[in-house]
Amino acid sequence: MFRLLISLAVLIVLLGVIGVGLFARVNALLDVYMETQGEKQAETLAEITERQFASELTTLHVIAGGVVQPGNDNTGSLSNIQKVDTSGAIGLLKIDGECLFGERQSAVDFPCIVEAIHGNSSISFCPGKGLMFCVPALRSENVLYVVYRLYPEDVLVERFGIVSYGGEGRTRIVDLNDSVIVGSLPKNSGEMLIYDEPEIVQGYEELNRMLYTAGNAAVFKPSKIGDVMLYAAEIGGTGFHLTGYVPKRVVMQGVQYIGMMVLMVFLFLVAAVFFGGFLLTGLERRMRESDKLKEAARIAEKSNSAKSEFLANMSHEIRTPINAILGMNEMILRESREEKTLSYARNVESAGNNLLSIVNDILDFSKIESGKMEIVTAPYRFSSVLNDVSNMINFRAREKKLAFKVEAQKTMPDNLMGDEVRIRQVITNILNNAVKYTNEGSVTLRVRAEDVTTDRLTLFVEVEDTGIGIRKEDREKLFKKFERVDLKQNNTIEGTGLGLAITSNLLTLMNGTVSVQSEYGKGSVFTIRIPQGVGGEDTLGDFRMRFERSTDRVTEHSENFHAPDAHILVVDDTRMNLVVIEGLLKRTLVQVETAPGGEEALAMAKENAYDLILLDQRMPGMDGTEVLKRMKSMEEGRNASTPVICLTADAVTGARERYLQEGFTDYLSKPVDTKALERTLMKYLPPEKIDSLT
Ligand code: ATP
Ligand code: MG
Repeated sequence: MFRLLISLAVLIVLLGVIGVGLFARVNALLDVYMETQGEKQAETLAEITERQFASELTTLHVIAGGVVQPGNDNTGSLSNIQKVDTSGAIGLLKIDGECLFGERQSAVDFPCIVEAIHGNSSISFCPGKGLMFCVPALRSENVLYVVYRLYPEDVLVERFGIVSYGGEGRTRIVDLNDSVIVGSLPKNSGEMLIYDEPEIVQGYEELNRMLYTAGNAAVFKPSKIGDVMLYAAEIGGTGFHLTGYVPKRVVMQGVQYIGMMVLMVFLFLVAAVFFGGFLLTGLERRMRESDKLKEAARIAEKSNSAKSEFLANMSHEIRTPINAILGMNEMILRESREEKTLSYARNVESAGNNLLSIVNDILDFSKIESGKMEIVTAPYRFSSVLNDVSNMINFRAREKKLAFKVEAQKTMPDNLMGDEVRIRQVITNILNNAVKYTNEGSVTLRVRAEDVTTDRLTLFVEVEDTGIGIRKEDREKLFKKFERVDLKQNNTIEGTGLGLAITSNLLTLMNGTVSVQSEYGKGSVFTIRIPQGVGGEDTLGDFRMRFERSTDRVTEHSENFHAPDAHILVVDDTRMNLVVIEGLLKRTLVQVETAPGGEEALAMAKENAYDLILLDQRMPGMDGTEVLKRMKSMEEGRNASTPVICLTADAVTGARERYLQEGFTDYLSKPVDTKALERTLMKYLPPEKIDSLT
């Protein structure tokens, strides 16, 4: 940062120096340009004077022409002219110097007389006497007389004075000895002329030197009245010079801001370059950042998918042994009569179930996080969801001696469209928490439909408990993953802190909402709302009554049927699982055959016709789906229409549809729930082979 500031300061100083240099350079160039202009102006002024002088001489030539006319009375005609033209004294001299008209003049004062005697027109100035124009009067190329006109000094300014630069310039005519012939015009009263200032004198000397090589010259010099431009030019055919000066501000009018403007343009360009630079670096930085972000996103995606894959595999690996443990345990529970063993086995069952639900939660959460959780909309019966969750929670509530009540709106539609599995999961999570975090009192489940139209409604589910409640400051943390609040109270209660995070994520995916009201120490109310489709006209009816009636009967575990004639095949690569299933079905008297892999299963299916096949999905070599396909396409297939039930620990939830699509008749999730297994058998075994016991 410090280095950046230093380099910025250096850059600014550098640019400042360049700017000032540029400004000076532009001004110097402007001076040179204006000096050239001054030279031209001086030349023009000199030409004007030259023409004026020439016209004086021409007039004299005309007069001289008249004088030499034969028989002309010289003096008479000259005095006539003099009367009309009084601006200068006219004179007529003989070539021996004798004066015929006007005043006699000395050729020493005015060398132009000598020149005229030699036949040349010329002009001379004699300080104190004036300016004389002389022409020869010729007859047949012989000089007879000299005609002159003498302008005394006091009329010279008026007659030949030069107005320059609109009256702002001061211009005069001088001879080679620097004697002033014609003074400056206009001369304002009290005006201080600057010709005597040393700088100016020196300036004119410079100009004089320049006049040796050029007809005109100009230069800027400082003076008491400010900077001035001095200029000088030769007046052709006279040997006189025109010299003058004009304030710099006058010549610079209109151009004095050019330097400033160039400076401004320079500053503007610098600013533009700075601005552009900033923009570019910003752009570059953003591009670099976005590249980094993309790279980070790619890495995150990669690691996320690796994580998901790992978890999916783990799920299988963990669920398979749990299956075995729970299955064997179930057999202990059924067969043992020893109270101590039974109590151990019950503990194993509860811990196993807990472990299973944790694995399920983690798997679900990893799916949500990797964006792989999909909401599958399909028709379902809400009564079935309500029934299952109520039964399950009722069982748990009873274990904790809590009352469980259901209040369900009788008129709410029963045929809904949505993701049944996820709806079940969300309601179960909230209900489980209510039971978990309530030590005495009751848990109440309320359901109703809101905003009902012909094809849509909002499913309203409310769970109220009389439990420990949640502090206000803890409420925001509730829905964060792995957050468990109020650990002082909860430290004996098991949980991962994922339940509500999954719930709220699932609700978001389903466009639903969840809210909490709670009074610490008194209880909590969780309210969820989920938009669902309506797919039929049936209503829920009096669920409360149905539920209460069913819970009156004590439902204890017992086999409901015997099927000694039924013949089934169980296929699983884990021998333990085969033992478990055999054990579970022992009391139903079903004849169970087992196969440890796909090849064996196919061989057995070729020989025997089974009433039902339980087929594990994940097996090394040939998986369940492959076995199913081959079995169904066997020639003279004995099991072409045998129901095949998929048996797998593979997916937590939502896999059912996939397996049904692949051709399985139904699906049983591992660890196999005894009741579900028995229900499935009763459903798919030929009815004539079942002896119902109830
Ligand atoms: P699990 O992942 O097994 O569900 P958990 O129940 O601890 O673990 P969440 O369901 O996410 O996790 O709940 C988070 C925390 O919110 C709980 O630890 C508990 O402190 C608090 N909580 C949730 N429901 C209630 C409730 N009905 N009454 C009081 N506290 C609750
Ligand atoms: Mg929970």
